[in-house]
Amino acid sequence: MSDCHGGTPRAGLLPNPSIRPPSAPHDRPIIVAIVGPPNSGKSTLFNRLTGLRQKVANFPGVTVEHRMGKAKLKDNHEVFLVDLPGVYSLHPRAEDEQVTHDVLKGLRPDFPKPDAVVLILDSTNLGRHLVLAAPILDLGLPTLVLLNMADDLAARGGKVDITALQDELNCNVALISAAKGTGIDRIQQFLIGTAVRLNSPPPRIELPVLHDVPKCRQWAATLGKRASYRAPAPPLWTRRLDSVFLHPVAGPLIFLAVVMAVFQSIFSWAKPVMDGLQDAVASSGVWFTHVLPDSPWRSLLVDGVWKGVGSVVVFLPQILLLFLFIGILEDSGYLARAALIADRTMAKFGLQGKSFIPLLSAYACAVPAVMATRVIENKRDRLATIMIAPLMTCSARLPVYTLLIAAFIPNRKLLGDFLSLPAAIMLGLYILGFLTAVVIARVLKSSILKSRDTNFILEMPPYRWPTVRSLSLRLVDRAKVFLHRAGTVILLVAICIWVLAHLPLHNGHAPDLEHSLAGSIGKTIEPAIKPLGFNWKIGIGLITSLAAREVIVGTLGTIYGVEIDEPAVSSAAKTQAIGEPSHGLEAAIHQDLSTAGAIALLVFFAYALQCFSTLAVVKRETGGWRWPLFQFSYMLALAYSGSWLAFHIASYFLH
Ligand code: GDP
Repeated sequence: MSDCHGGTPRAGLLPNPSIRPPSAPHDRPIIVAIVGPPNSGKSTLFNRLTGLRQKVANFPGVTVEHRMGKAKLKDNHEVFLVDLPGVYSLHPRAEDEQVTHDVLKGLRPDFPKPDAVVLILDSTNLGRHLVLAAPILDLGLPTLVLLNMADDLAARGGKVDITALQDELNCNVALISAAKGTGIDRIQQFLIGTAVRLNSPPPRIELPVLHDVPKCRQWAATLGKRASYRAPAPPLWTRRLDSVFLHPVAGPLIFLAVVMAVFQSIFSWAKPVMDGLQDAVASSGVWFTHVLPDSPWRSLLVDGVWKGVGSVVVFLPQILLLFLFIGILEDSGYLARAALIADRTMAKFGLQGKSFIPLLSAYACAVPAVMATRVIENKRDRLATIMIAPLMTCSARLPVYTLLIAAFIPNRKLLGDFLSLPAAIMLGLYILGFLTAVVIARVLKSSILKSRDTNFILEMPPYRWPTVRSLSLRLVDRAKVFLHRAGTVILLVAICIWVLAHLPLHNGHAPDLEHSLAGSIGKTIEPAIKPLGFNWKIGIGLITSLAAREVIVGTLGTIYGVEIDEPAVSSAAKTQAIGEPSHGLEAAIHQDLSTAGAIALLVFFAYALQCFSTLAVVKRETGGWRWPLFQFSYMLALAYSGSWLAFHIASYFLH
């Protein structure tokens, strides 16, 4: 930024964007960092400025993510915005804070030092947030200080004198509402100024010694006073709602009801859409078979690619629904309260309340759950949560459970009309996963992941109406990640499996399955899985399901030579519900597997970590292969011994 030191605009004045230096050097794009405490509105602002021109990336070597996006400005100017992890200070404590600190100080070899900083603070919480202004101004970069949530401040009777604050800080200050879009012009002006390299670092002001926290607080308080800051009263209804939601008795009950309602809706609301998608995948597969000429390519496309990828894509609605609920709960401020309540329970098995959110999302899929563990500052708690997340019953297990239960478990009533035997088994599998996770967490936290109790610091934001914009951006983000996974990993696996089942060619013909490469792989592992009650065909399914659990359903379909398409799964569910005779695939499995073997297989799927994506994301989040390998091994050991036990106990009782 050496070129900016001439022509310093007077402090507190934004540069005139019409003035442009004759030839600004353009050796790299201009980068502006958005910095602020958590919940100050960074993402909202970032989304507003970049729209969908953004992407999420990881800082190499650490688990922390950042978002980069291009802000399109007037007159075709462009700057890159980077949304850094939320911080209260530049004193690195958690990994997130370390990254923000390093980027801003230009200490990361893989990331250029930003050219300017947009500091965003919550104007309704200025007493606490202003503290961050000291270390940010100390960086000596051109800085724009934004006081966000102007709408809320005004509505709740707070006020602040921007001009006075601007004079005190000697830099540009603007009162904005990122959500409502007011004051965005000021930001545009600042960004354009940066784009044409006209903004200069603010003149130095006297700052408190930055390591002295009480001094910094005092400094912020004095600033607030000089800027006639009046904090808004906490909204009456926030206090009223808290007295209910945080009530020692009513609180946990409401919390339980909310969790149950979320689950119930995820399963019941997503079902029709998923069934529809499954039917669409199947019937388009049939359509392809009709319109394409008979060839190995058609088989690869329809049986390999279409069914393989399709079987996973059908889970999209369920996953989006879960994220919609989490988004609503989080944005409204309820999730912070729920985490506080969960903390009391979680502490009993050595975890903290922040583990609750990731574990809840693990019921849809372990991949986002592992990513969601970032809210946990304590590294060991975070690892423990990652290690147990895949034991929660993810949605990929549902097709497998549904198929096996429909094939083997008689539809008997257990508790009158309230609970049938198949439903009880399904519920039992959910509970099995959860209880095992609790035990494993206990064991990990009292051995290799022992840590001192950390203070549970969670800011209680006021209750707010979630905005449609923020919710829909979350969902678009999620859908992109999910579809990307289906289009890469799962596509590749589907193709590999199809090829293995069709080789080696004999006189130009594919062999029967037993003599194919896939068959011989199954035969090779058969001795190892015989004690669990599985034969080589199940063995092939176990291997293919290493990529993703649900793949076994399609694989078994091919193996038994049954015309199995996706509706078989939903029809299995229907069969189970109304007690109609079994579907073809169910009957085929029934002949080949004992009931004890089926129970063992259910236990195997409850425990084993058959999911490449989870392993990959755990590797990424923990920065190496050590933890994912440990996780894979312990879960495999659990799966093997668990299903061995289940097979022998069930064989004994069923004889
Ligand atoms: P981040 O953690 O800093 O990225 O904060 P977010 O952008 O996620 O915002 C936190 C919450 O504040 C969200 O519920 C936003 O909808 C809300 N929010 C953001 N900006 C404003 C604003 O200007 N006014 C109001 N009333 N709410 C806002």
